[in-house]
Amino acid sequence: MPERNPIKIETKVIHEGYNSEKYSGSLAPPIFQTSTFTFETAEQGERRFAGEEEGYIYSRLGNPTVTMLEERMASLENGEAALAFSSGMAAASAILLGLTKTGDHILCSQGVYGCTFGLLELMNEKYKISHDFSAMESREQLLQAIRSETVCIYVETPINPTMRLVDLQMIAEVGKEKGIPVVVDNTFCSPYLQNPITLGCDVVIHSATKYICGHGDVIAGIAVGKNEFIRKIALTTQKDIGGVISPFDAWLLLRGLKTLAVRMDRHCENAEELADFLISHPKVANVFYPGDKQNPDFSIAQKQMRKPGGLISFTINGNKATAQALMDELKLIKIAVSLGDAETLIQHPATMTHAAVPKESREKMGIDDTLLRLSVGLESWEDIRNDLEQALSKI
Ligand SMILES: *Cc1c(COP(=O)(O)O)cnc(C)c1O
Repeated sequence: MPERNPIKIETKVIHEGYNSEKYSGSLAPPIFQTSTFTFETAEQGERRFAGEEEGYIYSRLGNPTVTMLEERMASLENGEAALAFSSGMAAASAILLGLTKTGDHILCSQGVYGCTFGLLELMNEKYKISHDFSAMESREQLLQAIRSETVCIYVETPINPTMRLVDLQMIAEVGKEKGIPVVVDNTFCSPYLQNPITLGCDVVIHSATKYICGHGDVIAGIAVGKNEFIRKIALTTQKDIGGVISPFDAWLLLRGLKTLAVRMDRHCENAEELADFLISHPKVANVFYPGDKQNPDFSIAQKQMRKPGGLISFTINGNKATAQALMDELKLIKIAVSLGDAETLIQHPATMTHAAVPKESREKMGIDDTLLRLSVGLESWEDIRNDLEQALSKI
């Protein structure tokens, strides 16, 4: 039976996963900075290892501060359980290697994060686990791309850096029909803007380095899914490959999460203003932003995202040198990859995040030499606009 007054996400980000009564009333969660846990007796150690008694053993297998983060993240994504990792790529690799074996096939959205692309290539070369990309624009197109060997559908939406979207409910329905798990990299939205599990998808992963941390000082990852699946990953590709998060980094994420809702609202408000500014600027050629009514995927954004997010990509009139000159003229906006921080960041995908993608594939994905990606920060949007305006006036 659904609860009459379910707790809202703005409250969950602050309270879920932590009960101060259990920890001497400490308002802030304690950091369990320990590698191992002592057993009262040899027999207790035996029971813990046999899985007959709840309790901690060794911090690669679990740590109380990390558990608090995992419980909070599972709740925010409406999943049963979560696992925290040392990076977004540790989460992605544990999930993808956990789901596949030699001969299997992974079907991916048209674009995936650069290092995820690298991981897929490595899995193909070393283990003969193949992959394909599909625009997934319709049910028919998706069904056509699925093969008898397909064991995983791997989706990013919005896609980096072109901001094209994929209809998660449609994909989840096809996944269910075919018995193929759907994994969604939800990094660009954070659990505040989009909840793939609520839409029927099976697993969510995050680079927690981005909005979940929010302060540009941690590298971390999260995976959320069903109890049984998460437990299997915990006991295999997480435990034995070993990409676990440190207790201190888990604590920083618990701290960052408390302001997720207010931060996301501000990122989104600022992005809306800046998208309008860029769309009307004569030196800007195209703007890619899910909140733009001209965006071909606007209706998907309306359907599955609470707000259009804090990322905007745009192309300018000119060439690679013009794009680089614009970046060099910026004063407030910092030149850096990553996203989701308090500071507004700009990067040049063709020579930075997507430099390893061959030029031809890059252009097919819509990444030309004048494309820039802006991660809108938390500053006054007017100050960000003024910085863009003065830089644009100089090119
Ligand atoms: C940054 C990022 C990753 C990788 O995360 P790390 O924490 O850097 O390992 C994966 N997916 C997306 C969409 C990202 O932006």
